[in-house]
Amino acid sequence: MSELETREIRLNPIVPTESVLVATARSMRPKKAEDLAPRDTRKHVETCPFCRGNEAKTPPELFRMEAEDGNWAVRLVPNLYPVLGDDRENTNFTFGLQQTIDGYGRHEVFVDHPDHGAAIHEMSASHLEKVFRAYRMRMAQLYESDPRLKYVLVFKNFGPAAGASIPHTHSQIIAMPVVPENVQAEVINSAEYFRKHHRCIFCALVDEALTFEATIYDRASGEIRRKIDVGQYVIERSQHFIAIKPFASRFEWEVHILPLVHQADFLDTPEDWLPDLARIMKRTMARLDAVIGGAQYNFFLHSVPHGGPAEGHAASYHWHLEICPRTSIPTGFELGSGLFVNTISPEAAAKKLREAELEE
Ligand SMILES: [Zn+2]
Ligand SMILES: [Zn+2]
Ligand SMILES: [Zn+2]
Repeated sequence: MSELETREIRLNPIVPTESVLVATARSMRPKKAEDLAPRDTRKHVETCPFCRGNEAKTPPELFRMEAEDGNWAVRLVPNLYPVLGDDRENTNFTFGLQQTIDGYGRHEVFVDHPDHGAAIHEMSASHLEKVFRAYRMRMAQLYESDPRLKYVLVFKNFGPAAGASIPHTHSQIIAMPVVPENVQAEVINSAEYFRKHHRCIFCALVDEALTFEATIYDRASGEIRRKIDVGQYVIERSQHFIAIKPFASRFEWEVHILPLVHQADFLDTPEDWLPDLARIMKRTMARLDAVIGGAQYNFFLHSVPHGGPAEGHAASYHWHLEICPRTSIPTGFELGSGLFVNTISPEAAAKKLREAELEE
């Protein structure tokens, strides 16, 4: 699409109730990244509990992955301030219309790298592979540990703009007694699509990105309103994975990574795909960093739930990694309407990301 102004509401194809206002007019632009606190880029911080040499300052380690030099590469420790814990008996109760489910669960922290401020794209692919292997190992262990755990979420907040309270690079794993609503909505809606079309909607989106080409004309004037090109939304493609800019991106620089062939559960990813996943992740993050500069972001891993009403959707659900760089602060309009506002057209953002030059 040209640099023409875009002003339209785009529906998320998987969860249509989640819509985005793509409005590229300057007046829509809220507070931008340059006003946000920068991320911590230091390599070592004496007082940081996650830096090498300070291992005794964290709660007892749950496991570690070792680097080639025998030092630790990734550590898993319990969260000092867990949002969910297993320290109490089940106390579900209902009072009038109010209900609670006990905040039972686990909340742990992966120290992703010994270097304090290491960004994902600065880590080696072999290191990132260890990070993904650690995620997978712990997810499997947590699901096996207790049938009350219905969902295990892995996510990362990187930089103060993304809500990271500890500056040392880390990701988190939360095992919870409920399936989060947004995952549930994806699971239920994709199952509905599967019932109607006999295929996975995520696979359909990947195919569409790789094969779809169209020109849409304005009925009255006959002018071209939109051109959709093959590959317009593709940021990176590797042997087993693809990185896509969603058509209805909530965040300006949002990118999703998903397996090219159908796979519902991250835990079923073959071991020998992990190096490829690490590479595409590193390249995608390097592109984001090159374009935004000092990217601060949240990413989360959405994989098929192992419990609750959302269980058993192996054919219709497709695991993916949602990377959401934070370049603006939500405004009252966004919070009040629930409508995300994206001020850069996803087509233009995808083009920029694709054209970014990477140092090999
Ligand atoms: Zn540190
Ligand atoms: Zn699929
Ligand atoms: Zn998702």
